[in-house]
Amino acid sequence: MTTQMRAIVQNMPKAELHIHIEGSLEPELIFTLAERNGVTLAYPSVDALRAAYAFTDLQSFLDIYYAGASVLRKEQDFYDMTAAYLQRAQADHVRHTEIFFDPQTHTARGVPMADVINGIHRACADSPLSASLILCFLRHLSEEDAIATLEAALPYRDKFIGVGLDSSEVGHPPEKFARVFARCRDLGLRLVAHAGEEGPPAYIETALDLLKVERIDHGVRCLEDPALTRRLAAMRMPLTVCPLSNTKLRVFDQMRDHNLLQLLDAGLVAMVNSDDPAYFGGYLNDNFVAVFDALPLGLAHAHQLARNSFEAAFLPAPEKQRFLDEVDTYFSAFNVV
Ligand SMILES: [Zn+2]
Repeated sequence: MTTQMRAIVQNMPKAELHIHIEGSLEPELIFTLAERNGVTLAYPSVDALRAAYAFTDLQSFLDIYYAGASVLRKEQDFYDMTAAYLQRAQADHVRHTEIFFDPQTHTARGVPMADVINGIHRACADSPLSASLILCFLRHLSEEDAIATLEAALPYRDKFIGVGLDSSEVGHPPEKFARVFARCRDLGLRLVAHAGEEGPPAYIETALDLLKVERIDHGVRCLEDPALTRRLAAMRMPLTVCPLSNTKLRVFDQMRDHNLLQLLDAGLVAMVNSDDPAYFGGYLNDNFVAVFDALPLGLAHAHQLARNSFEAAFLPAPEKQRFLDEVDTYFSAFNVV
C-alpha cells in the first residue's frame, strides 16, 4: 500500500459496529484495575499477561478474555474501560460506534447490572463520538440465562439499542436463542448475531430466518454457499468483518488469504471492525492497514467500506445521510488510486 493510500484509509470517516468493550481491555489497564480492586491475577506482570495472548483459536482466546474481565468490579471500572476505547476510536477517525457488552460475564461474578450498564453508558455520554450499546448474550450459556439477563437489563432499556449473540459459536446454533430474540423483537430492540465465523454458513441462515437479525457479525463463511451469498447481497444484509481477529483465530491462516475483496466483489455490505482490539493486535485503523497491505484493495474499496460502515449502522436516516455525505465529500478530494 502506498503512503498516500495508508493516510486515506486512516483519516477517512468511519463507523465501528463490532467491538466487544471487554475486548478493549489492555494489559496495563487490567493491572491498574486489579490493583485498585485488590484482585490477584494469575500473571505476575503486564509482559507475562501480554505473552499469554498467544492463543490460536476461539476457545483459548475466550479463556483469557474472561480472566481479564474479572478485574472489572465497580461502575467506574466500566467507565474507564469504555473511555479508553472511545479515545482510541476517535484517534482512528471513527465517527459512530455501536459497542457490544457481555453482562453475563459480570453479573455471574456478582457485579450489579446497574454498574455494568451505567458505567459503559456514562462514558459514551461523555464522549464526543456518536456511540450506542448492544447487549450480547453469551451463547455457551442457556437461553434461560439469556432471558433472565434481558429481564435484569430492562430497567435500563433506554441505555441500549439492541441485542447480539457472541462467545463460542460451534455447537451453539442461533435457534437455541429463538425465544429470547422474539421477545427482544417485540420490545423494539435491534437484532444482530455472530454467525459464520467458526460456525457453518447454515448458522447465518438460521440467524436470518429464526432470529430475524438485521446484521450478521463476521459472516465470512457465507461464500461457501453461493445461494446464501446471493441472498445476503440482494437483501443488503451487512456483515461486520474483523480481519485481524480472523487471522489471529485462524479463520484465515494469513491476511493474504482473507476474503474481504471477494465479499465486496459479491456485492455484500461488508465493513471492517476490530472485534477485541486489545487481544487481536489492533484497533480499527490497524485492521484497515493490515487488510489493505495484504490484499489488492484500492481507493474505490476504501470508499465502499466507509459507506458500508454507515449504511450498516443503526442510526436515524438523517444522521446516516449526514455521515454518508461526509464520506463522499472526503473521497471527492482524491482521484487517483
Ligand atoms: Zn465478535
